[in-house]
Amino acid sequence: MTIMEIAALPRFVHIREVGPRDGLQNEPVILSTAQKVKLIDMLADTGLQAIEVGAFVRPQQVPQMADTEAVFAGIARRSGVVYSAIAPNVIGARRALAAGADVVQVFLSASESHNRSNVNMSIEQSLAQVAEMAALVHSAGKPFDAVLSVAFGCPFEGDVPVERVLDLCQRLLDLGAEQLTLGDTTGMAHPLLVQEVVRAFRARFPRQPLRLHLHSARGAGLANLLAGLQLGIDLFDSSIGGIGGCPFAPGAPGNLCTEDVVHLLHEMGIATGLNLPALMATARELERMLGHEVPGQTIKAGICKHLRDRGDSSLS
Ligand code: ZN
Repeated sequence: MTIMEIAALPRFVHIREVGPRDGLQNEPVILSTAQKVKLIDMLADTGLQAIEVGAFVRPQQVPQMADTEAVFAGIARRSGVVYSAIAPNVIGARRALAAGADVVQVFLSASESHNRSNVNMSIEQSLAQVAEMAALVHSAGKPFDAVLSVAFGCPFEGDVPVERVLDLCQRLLDLGAEQLTLGDTTGMAHPLLVQEVVRAFRARFPRQPLRLHLHSARGAGLANLLAGLQLGIDLFDSSIGGIGGCPFAPGAPGNLCTEDVVHLLHEMGIATGLNLPALMATARELERMLGHEVPGQTIKAGICKHLRDRGDSSLS
């Protein structure tokens, strides 16, 4: 790490919480609408400013997300919090707008095989859908964000060329995407690859903010987060308790865990605006709702700062 890269560490990182969607949609336990509403309201009370509430997909395909309309209707909207929803097509985008989503998120895969596996369309067909969705969302006066999945590797095709990732980013920006997220959907990235892709993105789109959606399927999630931080990335997705993954990609559990990310950032002196004990209480409540442990580590090990403040020498 060069001095320049140390200096580039952001002072503040914005977390978008994806647990209620990306987390719960991969859970075999389906929470009730009331439980989801409680979870999202607790998350909003931790200081989060962006929460992925749900997905407007076919209930037969993702039964965990069948009640997203009711969840939107039930949550207590906090001012300053952006409540987003995922939509795979125009019908979904229409439902998201009607339900009151602040932002509609569209997904596209950087590989043909993953896109077909995910939404049963070619990338060109998906882009045509995105164009229709963009027109609809913009006519409602709302922004849309785009997530490019498997941007760091595809479980079906292996390496994904950086040029293809950037070309698809260009297409999404041309369609009016407000914000771009690159997803390591199946946890295939490593720190040097993250930096290669981020540098290439910056070279091509110097003024465009970039969000990273990292997974820890092979344990590299926090290392990849640091790799992004070192290049000044200050927008990340993470999931409360570390639940979730991608149901349409084989072997893809392990979203970054929100409270683990926040703990690490705070230890490094990087602010998040989030209340870590409140996040941990939310993760414990989620464990009770799901009836099983969540993968997050900080709720098991405790907050380092509290241990230091206690000066407990028995733990040394
Ligand atoms: Zn994910």
